[in-house]
Parts: sequence; structure tokens; C-alpha cells
Amino acid sequence: MRVAVLTSGGDSAGMNAAVRAVVKQAIVRGCEAYVVREGYEGLIRGNIEAEGSSDSGAQTPPQVTRDSQGVEANLRFGYGPLLRDWEGDSTDDPTGKNLKGRYIVKVGWDDVRGWMGEGGTIIGTARCAGFRTIEGRMTAAHNLIKEGINALVVCGGDGSLTGADKLRGEWPELVAKLHQNGTITEEQANASKHLVIVGLVGSIDNDMAMTDLTIGAPTALHRICESMDNISTTASSHSRAFVIEVMGRYCGWLALMAGVCGGADFVFIPECPPEAESWEDQMCEVIKRHREVGKRKTMVIVAEGALDKNLKPIKPDYVKDILRNRLQLDTRVTTLGHTQRGGRPCAYDRILPTLQGVEAVNALLESTPETPSYMIGINENKISRIPLVEAVKQTQAIAQAINDKDFESAVKLRDPDFKE
Ligand code: ATP
Repeated sequence: MRVAVLTSGGDSAGMNAAVRAVVKQAIVRGCEAYVVREGYEGLIRGNIEAEGSSDSGAQTPPQVTRDSQGVEANLRFGYGPLLRDWEGDSTDDPTGKNLKGRYIVKVGWDDVRGWMGEGGTIIGTARCAGFRTIEGRMTAAHNLIKEGINALVVCGGDGSLTGADKLRGEWPELVAKLHQNGTITEEQANASKHLVIVGLVGSIDNDMAMTDLTIGAPTALHRICESMDNISTTASSHSRAFVIEVMGRYCGWLALMAGVCGGADFVFIPECPPEAESWEDQMCEVIKRHREVGKRKTMVIVAEGALDKNLKPIKPDYVKDILRNRLQLDTRVTTLGHTQRGGRPCAYDRILPTLQGVEAVNALLESTPETPSYMIGINENKISRIPLVEAVKQTQAIAQAINDKDFESAVKLRDPDFKE
């Protein structure tokens, strides 16, 4: 089996550990491993044929070696350094290798060495409008077929996983069309009857249903905690109030957990919006009480998607004005922004993607045309296989419930066991 892995959508810490685990497990299980640079964009761009070469997939022949377990592995392709800095296009590269115009790259064991602790995604990610069209997916299919790739691991959010499942669903039809119009040979068509896919959830928001945690969320929370610790000392020194905006879109997990970790006075999250008419009074009452018992600092967390019950966004500047005008607190706003996204993954964002990457390859190898596409999750501390379509549907239903002001359903869908 030839297994390709790509990262798509917003980046998150731990994506490199996921790619590393997929590549290594693929090799251990006797597969050939590929990375696709720049998400679906790379799948559509594919590999531009080198001049004088009739084989667009021609790459440096592998150096076949045995690893410590005696497994024959394609160990060294030497692309690791280039993948880290691929814009350099390597004309000065001492290895003489070149990734120019090549988005689907065969990799070996060593190419992903040292990736575990790196932040972001070394192979790049993108949002790709082209992949939303049938023409784009047809080109992507053609590029995969040219490389003989029949298994794909996608690490991204619900959009990326939807796109992967769509490609899988359309695959037989795409292969037939490409064969009919003479783009691929009969031999290629016969060798590419099925595509199997598995999704890994990379998202700092922890916004995917049916899994307890997504890759990148623990690190983002860690960053928020560090920032809150920093803010806390200066807030205490000056007896100030801080309104801290955190990421999360429709999901309040980061904000809620940050409130717990950082000891916030008040937290606004989209799933549990306050009464439109009275939240200002309620917030001021709580903060006043905290001040009266001697607290020298005030911290209010606002999730970026926070709303009141009338779906009016709760904006940090407005919260600041309330605290200033009603409680006379010297109040500042801090928007943590992309500091939450970047940086090295914390320990759990190395463990989780490693375990899930291994499981992703195992799931691919066990997939048949009849099995559903799986998303690899974690439930009650056990790595799990979850039907991808169901998880995406439930995730989208939560966003819809919030838009429909059906907050009770949103909370129930997020956590069926939730009790007030
Ligand atoms: P994030 O959580 O960071 O937003 P995401 O994976 O949900 O990640 P999207 O922008 O929704 O991010 O999707 C990433 C890419 O996946 C899109 O740019 C597009 O190429 C592809 N994609 C998303 N939805 C679909 C779809 N319905 N059909 C085909 N491709 C899709």
C-alpha cells in the first residue's frame, strides 16, 4: 500500500508528530510513505514533470535498509531538511535534491526525524477552494493515481475531513472518467479501484464531536494558561482587570478550561450564552463580590465566538467598558491571537498524535471498500475509530443549534452526559 499524509485547514501543534507517526508506522507495516505539501492545494498541484523525464513520480531511488526490528525500510531519502525549508528550492542544496514543483513526496524514516517536538506543520497547510469543486478533486485523484497512492491520511478540522470523505466517495466515478477521457491508462485504472482514507483531527479548538480531545488543543490551552499567569502578576500588582479573548469559534472548550486553569472571575462561551438583558449586572455582581473579599485582580475570559442569548456577539471592548464604567476598574483587553496556535507541542500533543497516527495506518490497512471512513479519536483515554461522517455531522449540528438559538441541544450534542 502507498500511504500519503497531508495536513489541512488551520495548523495546530502536534501535526508534525502525527505526520511522523503515520510515516513511521506505514514503513513499519511494509507500506511506502508519502507526504503531500500544502494540504489539498498540493494534491491538486501534484508533481510537475521534470524536463526530459516521462515519469512525473521519478524520485531518488530509496536506500533500502533494515531497522532495529529487522523490518526492511526505506530509510533515507534525504528530503527532511528540504521539507523544512522547501521554498529554498535547493539549487544550493549539497544533497543535490530538489523539491521544486513537487508536492507529493516519497519520504523515508529519516525524513521525519526530529519532527515530534516541532510546532505548526512542516509540510505546510492551506485552505484550498479548488478542492471544493469536482474538477479540483478530479485533478487531485489524477495526481494520486500517477504516484500509485491508494491510501490517504488527512489531519485537519471537520472541513478537511469532509473533503477527504467526499474524494473517497467519488473515487470510482473519478477513476472511470479519467480512464474514459484517456488521462489514465487501463492499467492505472485497474490498479486504483479504491481509495481508503482516515482522518486525524487537528484543531486547537477541540471542536470535533465524538472525540474527547483534538490534536493541538492541549498546547493551545497551555499557551493560554501561561499568558494568564503572566497577566495575573501584573494585574495583581496594579489591582487591574483584564479581559482576555481566546480562540475557539463555536466551541467554548478553550475558554472554559482556561477559566478553570487560570482562575478567571467570569467566562463567556458560545454554548452557554448569558441573558441578553442581564449579563452585565450578573458579571458586575460576581466581580464586585470577589473584590470585596480582597481579590486584587480580575480576569474575564471571552471566547471569540461568545454570544448573548439573542446571538449578539459579546465583544471584549464592550466588557472592558462595563468594568470601567460600572466598577471603576482600570481594565485592559488582551487578545491572545496566534500565540495560542504556535510554538512547540506540549507533551500530550506529542503522545496523542503519535498514538493516533499509528492507529490511522492500522485502520487504513484494515479498511475495505465496504468499511466506513474512520476518524481516529480518543474516548475515555482510549484511542478509538469513529465513523468520520457521523462525527462531522454532529459537529456541524452543534454549530447549527447555536445559530438556531437552541443552546440546550448544543450542550447536549457537545456532551450527552452534561448536568447543570
Ligand atoms: P479548521 O478547523 O482549522 O477550520 P478545517 O479543516 O475545518 O480546519 P476548512 O477551511 O473548513 O478547515 O477546510 C479545509 C479545506 O478542506 C478547504 O479549504 C477545502 O479545500 C477542503 N474542504 C472543506 N470542506 C469541503 C467540502 N465540503 N468539500 C470538499 N472539500 C472541502
